[in-house]
Amino acid sequence: MISKISPNVFQLYFDTFGSTAYVLKLNKNIMIDTSTEDNRKELIEDLKQLGLKPENIEFVILTHNHWDHTGNLNIFKNAKIITADNLSDLPSDIKPIKTPGHTQDSLCFLYKDILFSGDTIFHEGGRGRTDLKGGNEKQIQESIKKLKTLKYNILCPGHIN
Ligand SMILES: [Zn+2]
Repeated sequence: MISKISPNVFQLYFDTFGSTAYVLKLNKNIMIDTSTEDNRKELIEDLKQLGLKPENIEFVILTHNHWDHTGNLNIFKNAKIITADNLSDLPSDIKPIKTPGHTQDSLCFLYKDILFSGDTIFHEGGRGRTDLKGGNEKQIQESIKKLKTLKYNILCPGHIN
């Protein structure tokens, strides 16, 4: 299912477990996270509704390396994959924020007044779990403090249900 966040930002979400995925139709076509293999068919269908094929995506940005966010990476054959290692390759209108805690590599991204928060924070004060590998309670608290200093109006988290 697709929810329009702003004129050029779309949220893709699924009934079956998996992360949300976001499509940003800027001067480049960008995805943030890719959900799971179980949701692949629907993801491709949603992209089609947005006038895109997987090969039209030029950047895939990952909020962190968890299977429920990275399951469809391999269908984006022409995309540059952005992770915690190559942030300098990000399109310049997207600002990365390092937010360790849920995992060591967790990132959030700010585009205009929209914050893509991965599994660091969710709607209604929800926050990522820290009991998985690489999780750290003190770090996520610091990361959440950091996010509170940002000016954003719209929260786009990695899970909404
Ligand atoms: Zn996660």
